[in-house]
Amino acid sequence: MVSKFVRGISENCTFCELARHDEHNRETPLHLFYDCEIVDRIRENFFAWLLLGTGERNPTRQEIFVTFERDNNFFNRVMTLVSKLYLFIIWQCKVRKTLPTLNLLKFSVINELQVIAYLSNDLKLGIKESRIRRLQNLDVNILALELEQ
Ligand SMILES: [Zn+2]
Repeated sequence: MVSKFVRGISENCTFCELARHDEHNRETPLHLFYDCEIVDRIRENFFAWLLLGTGERNPTRQEIFVTFERDNNFFNRVMTLVSKLYLFIIWQCKVRKTLPTLNLLKFSVINELQVIAYLSNDLKLGIKESRIRRLQNLDVNILALELEQ
């Protein structure tokens, strides 16, 4: 998507190129953040991990790019933040020309949430009421992640 503005930059998806994918895909925002095979697999695994035990399904495309509108409004607010963090982390990987990984996504999202929750009682309450078990003990979660690897 940057290629429209800067000459000499490939129009192909950064991640497909890095992974030496056979097919070359144009790097549209929809491809980069959603349809890209590399990103798609990691995103599905990440949200399956995050939402384990909640009974909630993985986010739709609409939810990833816009907002969540499910039954629990606390869940919606936390997940809308998480989906924006997801987009931000994928964007950072693109800029740094590194392939995103599941562990990077887990660590980065938890880390960002820890920082924001530290500063915001609103988010602390949101997380508590969201009933996302994975986020209930944010301070010990990083350790749990390390043990799972
Ligand atoms: Zn791609």
